[in-house]
Amino acid sequence: MSRLLTDLPQPVAAEVLSSSSIIVQPIGALEQHGPHLPLSTDLVIPEAIGALAVDRAVASGIDAWLLPPMTSSKSDEHHWAPGTIWMEASTTWNTLVDIGRSVAATSARTLVFLNGHGGNSALLQVVGREIRRRFGLRTFSMGTGTQRAGGGADGGPDEHGMGIHAGHSETSVMLALRPDLVDMSQAVRNVPAHLTALETIGFNGFPVSFGWTSDDFGPSGVIGDATGATAEYGAQLVDEGAEFVARALDEIRRFSFTS
Ligand SMILES: [Zn+2]
Repeated sequence: MSRLLTDLPQPVAAEVLSSSSIIVQPIGALEQHGPHLPLSTDLVIPEAIGALAVDRAVASGIDAWLLPPMTSSKSDEHHWAPGTIWMEASTTWNTLVDIGRSVAATSARTLVFLNGHGGNSALLQVVGREIRRRFGLRTFSMGTGTQRAGGGADGGPDEHGMGIHAGHSETSVMLALRPDLVDMSQAVRNVPAHLTALETIGFNGFPVSFGWTSDDFGPSGVIGDATGATAEYGAQLVDEGAEFVARALDEIRRFSFTS
């Protein structure tokens, strides 16, 4: 039987779901990814990792079910690039709350957001609590486990921990998943290396965050170094990502608020 819940007729879907079922909602984005990757990059990756991870989870006895990916989400940092199809935070919020309400109408009690776009992360944490409070679901949010900040240790270029958009890891993953959509002749390096002089302000993990749009760092839309990307490294990241998500689903199955 397909684990894509929407492949099933409604009475069958209602029948197969139970309180131990885990619903996985991949969250994609349609946004500029530099001159070498498709607009659909952040849609292709969570869709692929979601399918691989749910298959692995089901094989190990977890009652996981996949929903089709949300195609657009909060990509306002790429608003400047025509072709980006972005939602306001409020639109994304309302859509996620509606999905939570709909899942809560089934027998499943657990909803997992599998996020393909870093710009959604903060919103997903907040909306997870909203859905928990309003509809009583257990909610979880995670990335695809395929993104690396890029420190050079993996044999790739040193992106000074800033390979966050269309850089080495993401381009490699796309070379593994959809090489037909990647144009390596257009790959560039664009790393705001001067930021490494700052101790408190930075991207993920720094204590002081800052508002930015992707054109703040130059016209290419890339934040990272795509020039050395390889399909081989990408295949490794896809495998690691699928394994990470499958392992997380196993912990989610066992997760309890009280001992
Ligand atoms: Zn991306």
